[in-house]
Amino acid sequence: MASPDLESPCLSSVGGSFHGFFNIHVEEGNTADILHVLEAPTSSASDNCNIPTPPPLPSKPCTKSKSYSRNIEYTVLLKETKNRWDILFTEGNGADVHIITEDKSFIPAHSFILGIASPVLHNILQQSKVKNGIRFIKIPGVPHEAVYAFIRFIYSSCYEEEDLKKFVLHLLVLSHSYLVPPLKRICIHFLEQGYLTRENVIDVLQLARSCDAPRLSFICIRMVVKDFKSISSTEGWKVMKRVNPALEQELVESVVEEDSRKQERLRKMEERKVYLQLHEAMEALLHICRDGCRTIGPRDKVLKVSQVACSFPACKGLEALVRHFSNCKTRVPGGCVHCKRMWQLLELHSRMCNEPDICKVPLCRHFKEKMQQQTKKDEAKWKLLVSKVIAAKKALGPFSSRHAGLL
Ligand SMILES: [Zn+2]
Ligand SMILES: [Zn+2]
Ligand SMILES: [Zn+2]
Repeated sequence: MASPDLESPCLSSVGGSFHGFFNIHVEEGNTADILHVLEAPTSSASDNCNIPTPPPLPSKPCTKSKSYSRNIEYTVLLKETKNRWDILFTEGNGADVHIITEDKSFIPAHSFILGIASPVLHNILQQSKVKNGIRFIKIPGVPHEAVYAFIRFIYSSCYEEEDLKKFVLHLLVLSHSYLVPPLKRICIHFLEQGYLTRENVIDVLQLARSCDAPRLSFICIRMVVKDFKSISSTEGWKVMKRVNPALEQELVESVVEEDSRKQERLRKMEERKVYLQLHEAMEALLHICRDGCRTIGPRDKVLKVSQVACSFPACKGLEALVRHFSNCKTRVPGGCVHCKRMWQLLELHSRMCNEPDICKVPLCRHFKEKMQQQTKKDEAKWKLLVSKVIAAKKALGPFSSRHAGLL
């Protein structure tokens, strides 16, 4: 609760002097409906999710065509060169390496090309067996087609869009394990740009972690936090929970943290709203006491009862509160809840008022004098309230202020 729990000043200390300040016309209508305006602000804070957005992509990766990269920077010459390298791979002329894949079939390749493109393959080739002039290496653990697409990319940077869609996770692992950064960048970009779904995000997250792709990991975690309910019921989550409970714990903690951040943001918004309402009440009070409005105003003014809507948002509620305050017959110590509220508003005004000698707000000077005797604790409470009310108004910007004299 943002409004301070301040003691209402004793009514008897100033007697009924307040009642003489206002020129009040009786107005038809249920004032009880209006009184609550100043008392119980309702929440309208939206569920504003502010999970930070990931940093921009480090570079713009190549766009893909059906068969070949189609980056607009590529010249025709480069395209032809790529074609030649692609043909060299697909025809395998002069191949001196056989890459054995998962299904025991092999892909012919050229050791010098593999060695240049991947330092890991270079080392493996150095240690490989040579039989009849052919080196044999194994790339197990992934489908044959994925290895084929991987080696093809090593030759010419060419790949089929379909292959990328189908084997992107395998290609990410291969490009990371064999140190082929251009392909790794393409895979990560592809994953970041729309491949992620509720069903695969947990798998991709684990892969992104093991393949050192921090930005992709971050995007996955962000997705989990945003859509925790449905992602935590997927098959991927259940498997992860079993094999990697530490990750599950980490993700749940991220969700809890985000949730409490969201609660805190909402709480602050609510708080600001209350302070802003108090500021509006201060403006309306000054306006009523200085100029009068519709049916209520200072004694020395002749009121022009007008049907034109007042532009002070808190004026109507405050008018009702003032009317109640003048006529309240509740004789409880400190007054009824509405009267207490009025005392607080008057005291708050006094604490914010810089012109008590010419001020027309009732009891402005009385409260200024009372301040001399207050305890340090009370003083600190009021100072905090005043600073928050001022800060809430300032946060709205300089053009929203109606009166310059008050603050
Ligand atoms: Zn008004
Ligand atoms: Zn009352
Ligand atoms: Zn004043």
